[in-house]
Amino acid sequence: MRILDTAAIVTGGASGLGGATAKALADKGARVFALDLPAGIEKAPQVDGITYVAADVTDGDQVLAAVEQAAAAGVPLRTVVNCAGIGPSARILSKKGRHDLGLFRKVVEINLIGTFNVMTLAAEAIAKTEPLEDGARGVVINTASVAAFDGQIGQVAYSASKGGVAGMTLPSARDLASQGIRVMTIAPGIIDTPMLATVSEDFRAGLAAGVPFPKRLGRPDEYAQLAIDIVEHDYLNGEVIRLDGSLRMAP
Ligand code: NAD
Repeated sequence: MRILDTAAIVTGGASGLGGATAKALADKGARVFALDLPAGIEKAPQVDGITYVAADVTDGDQVLAAVEQAAAAGVPLRTVVNCAGIGPSARILSKKGRHDLGLFRKVVEINLIGTFNVMTLAAEAIAKTEPLEDGARGVVINTASVAAFDGQIGQVAYSASKGGVAGMTLPSARDLASQGIRVMTIAPGIIDTPMLATVSEDFRAGLAAGVPFPKRLGRPDEYAQLAIDIVEHDYLNGEVIRLDGSLRMAP
């Protein structure tokens, strides 16, 4: 599928993987609508081709308004990349007490239900666009994590949410096939983004050493490149792709 002269939605588009993907899509000639929280947008760089839209992915009305804005861009909405997410950590039982149910709900609400919310509302808009000759209308790329398969200590909520994102992939692709909409998921390993800002240099070096090859953390532009490849590759559908240098996490 062509990216030039189409519209794209990227959630979490003010930072990290979403920021890099928004820029890569804009560089390819897309009109990008980068959805994020107001606090994220305040810190985001001004980039030609990117319009920032304040929207919480868990809020139906805010996402619908943002989707309507993208759908009215004057070029067809073809691409959605869901990168908004959070990754707080807590053990089921620890000295601080048991895992807080509210925290579990919050992580699942943003990472899983937010992804579903954006995918569904955006798919409805994409389904109204004029299809290409072969019936193709668009693609949704969701972001899981290797934690969907390799969850570590303190990651139960995050792994549950990302396992849900991975699990949605094939049924969503099957559901949306008749509208000409593909659904793919990227499951990153450890990518150097602001999400890692709180870890020490030593911990970061240990993470990098644990990647079989290349022995380094991934870069946001490597995620963005894969997202671009998926958009342009019409035969990729219903699949979860690990982007992790073959990393397998220890507990
Ligand atoms: P990041 O913190 O740099 O970016 C996440 C963005 O999501 C932020 O701009 C934040 O404001 C936004 N966001 C958070 N909650 C939101 C909400 N309710 N509505 C709208 N926007 C919201 O993090 P990142 O590393 O770029 O992560 C992007 C995605 O990739 C996340 O889903 C994360 O779980 C996933 N991921 C990251 C890594 C990694 O190593 N960085 C690994 C695996 C998966």
